Formats: sequence, structure tokens, C-alpha cells
Amino acid sequence: MANLYDILAAGFPADRDKPAFLLSDGSAVSYGELEAGAAQIAGHLVASGVAPGDRVGLQAEKSVEAVMIYLGVLKAGAAFLPLNSAYTSAEVDYFVHDAEPRVFVTDAQAFRAEADAADPLLKTVPRADDDLASLIYTSGTTGRSKGAMLSHGNLAANATALHQIWAFSPDDVLLHALPIFHVHGLFVAMHCAFLSGAPMVWLPKFDDARVMTALARSTVMMGVPTFYTRLLANPAFTREAAAHMRLFISGSAPLLESTFAEFEARTGKRILERYGMSEAVIITSNPLVGERIPGSVGYPLPGVELRIAGGDQTGVIQIRGPSVFSAYWRMPDKTAEEFTDGFFITGDVGRQDPDGRVWISGRAKDLIISGGYNVYPKEIELILDEMIGVTESAVVGIPHPDFGEGVVAVVIGQGTEAAMIADCRRRLAPYKSPKRIVFVDELPRNAMGKVQKNLLRDRYTDLFKSG
Ligand code: AMP
Repeated sequence: MANLYDILAAGFPADRDKPAFLLSDGSAVSYGELEAGAAQIAGHLVASGVAPGDRVGLQAEKSVEAVMIYLGVLKAGAAFLPLNSAYTSAEVDYFVHDAEPRVFVTDAQAFRAEADAADPLLKTVPRADDDLASLIYTSGTTGRSKGAMLSHGNLAANATALHQIWAFSPDDVLLHALPIFHVHGLFVAMHCAFLSGAPMVWLPKFDDARVMTALARSTVMMGVPTFYTRLLANPAFTREAAAHMRLFISGSAPLLESTFAEFEARTGKRILERYGMSEAVIITSNPLVGERIPGSVGYPLPGVELRIAGGDQTGVIQIRGPSVFSAYWRMPDKTAEEFTDGFFITGDVGRQDPDGRVWISGRAKDLIISGGYNVYPKEIELILDEMIGVTESAVVGIPHPDFGEGVVAVVIGQGTEAAMIADCRRRLAPYKSPKRIVFVDELPRNAMGKVQKNLLRDRYTDLFKSG
């Protein structure tokens, strides 16, 4: 039972002059400076009347000062509310209204400077395992965005488990190119570095040229699948460029098997895919030692119980464990709906092998019901992706006058609609075969690399309208 801040700080190196952040201009910020910055911010927050449990919001570009604010908020016993820097003021209004933060920061550098006037808070405000550490709003592709309440105990349990299973050590150097308003960059990546007192090569955002330079002095990279496809698209990304790395980790969206294979062919390294979500941070991971299988997200983390609704077949994944959040902020009905006898209903559809490996086949809400039959988009996407000339595909259900929903494939690649439909019909039951194929140059994705199927459904909503 402790404040997450103290758990993380216990991993900081004994020699506080060691770097926590290696910046692009060649300078570094030490663990001592990070700790001092967090103490100033915590002191400033307490002096401003922030009480334990109060929310402190931050909407700012990625920076070292933003991390100091995150840690200072924890140290002061308050709860951190990070918001995507791309949110519009109308969107921010909703979050501020809902979360009622005591303090809301929009300029991390100015806030950090302001905090220097306060007395540093040297002693961390005690918190219990169940106390709120962070409020993470889900990306909310349907309905109102919900605030997942993650406790000190949730985050500490996950950080400790990941640090161990991925064998982080003080000799590691983590390449950090992710945004820090999302659990991936904020918790998964940074907590592993902090717990091992390791430095992070700190990039403001993903840029393939800069990442390639940074790989030479890093040992681990955490990324979304798009990072890997962008690296592969650059011919300068070679076996030598990746030679220094001990581990490439991918998550937040499905990693295509073709990306896994191409990456291995190019670098000799097998990407380690893991699966997580805002409500539980990381849930499963492929093994560090042992077979990493493309298409599978690996085994449940130690302490995580995972089951498939309805038995052994493919179904909705439910989870229970130390990192699973307790409730959605001020939404008791929604919370009750999404838990069943202590298990959280993830909304992801998948299956589990007898040996425990988990395979994800999509989101329950992406399920298409065409003419009364259930169609899982992933099954069709896999077939399309295998076709010559197809780079990637996304299959969605579009309102259809006869079938309720009609299966539509949005494809990046070359080919003709008629030939592809014919090919699908040879390999799939007619009700699963796409009724239309639409060719595009790019699929819409959010900041975490997820294909935004809701946007595709909107874009093609009139495709089957007669007239
Ligand atoms: P978020 O809460 O924004 O992090 O989104 C969580 C969702 O991302 C999960 O419920 C999954 O649908 C998806 N996701 C995360 N990691 C993976 C993965 N490795 N493979 C497939 N889907 C994933």
C-alpha cells in the first residue's frame, strides 16, 4: 500500500545524476532534476489548495515538464487527467465539465516555472491502493467518452508485472516516441523506464528518420503498428539500423501478420505484440523468452484472469485482475453494465488456445449482422490482405435495404472490385463476401494507430441507398 509515485521513485537510480531523458539537441535531464521538478510541482499544487483525490488536468504538447507535472500530481496525492493535445475546445469543455479538475494546465513549461516559487513537497502524500491515481477518458468512438478510474494499486501492479516480464534493467535505454496523453506512452512505457532507473531517448513524436538515428543508442522501443510500417517503408531501415535493439514491442492496435513477417525478414527480430486498453493497461503479452506468434497477443499477464463469454469458442473477452479499473467516473449504470460477476467485459472479441494464448478477432461493436448472419470483419480482412496487390483492408457494415447491413471492404491496393468480390466468393460463404469494395489511398486512423471504422461507416453510409 503506497503512493504510486514512491513505488516508481524507488526504481530511480541511486546516482541521481544519471539521465532520465536524452533529448534531441544532445542535452539530458537527470533523474535528480525530474525528482526536484516533481517536488516543486507537488508543493505548488498543495499550496494552491489541491487536496488528495482532486483532479489535475493537462492538455499540452509532449515535454519533460509535462512528465514532471504527471509525477508532481501523483506525489501531491491528486489524480492525473491527461487530455489528447488534438482535442478541440468543445471537446475539452466536455471533459472539464465531467471531471471537474481543480487545476487545468495548458502550458506545461509556464506551470513548471511558476512552481519554482513554491516550497517543494518532499514527503509524498500517502495514498491507498484503491485511491484514484489517474482518470483516463476512453477514445470513445461511439457514445460519450467515459473516464476510466485507475488507482495507485492498478498502475503499480501493471508496472511491476511489465518491468518483470519484459526484463527491464538499468542498462536499458527506452526509445520513447509515443504521445503521453494515452496509457501506452504515459504508463506502459514510462513506468518501465522509471522502475529500472533507465534513460529514455525522448522524441516529441514519431519521425522515421529520427527514430532510426535513435535506435543506435536504444535497447527497447514501444510503438503502435504504424511505427513499424513507417520504418519498413524507409529503405534506410536495415538490419544494421536495428542491430543494437534487444526488444521491439507493439500494441494499441492489431499488428498485421505481414508487418511482423516483413520486420523479421528485414531485421532478424520478431516484434513482441501485447494487448491492452485504457481500462486495464496491459492485459496479455507475447513471451520475451519463447515463441512470439504473429496474430496472437500472447498470454494473460501474471494475476490476470481471462475468460471468453459463452465458453470455449470465439466470444467477448472478459478480464479480472489487479490492474483492472474499478469504475467509470460518475457513471454507475455504465459501470454496472460493463462488469459481470467481477469480470470486466472488454468488448474485444477473441479466443484462447488450450495453452493460454489469446487471439483477438475484432471489437464486438464492429460485428456486422447481414441478413441475420453474424459476420466478423477480421475474417474477411485476413482474406483480402492475402490477395496480391492488397496492402491493407478494413471491413465495415453499411446500412442495406434488404440485409440490414451490407458488408463493405475498404481496401488500399490495386485490383478491380469485380475480381476481388469473385475471389472472396470462392473462399467465403456468400453472406460474408463483401457486396462492395471501395479503394482508398489511406485508412483513417487515430493518434494510436487504430483504424476509425466509425468514420468509414459514416463516409459510406449511403452506399446502398437506392436511386
Ligand atoms: P484504448 O483504450 O484506446 O487503449 O483502446 C483499447 C483497444 O485497443 C482494445 O480494446 C483493443 O480493441 C485495441 N487493442 C489494443 N492492443 C491491441 C492488439 N495488440 N491487438 C488488437 N487490438 C488491440
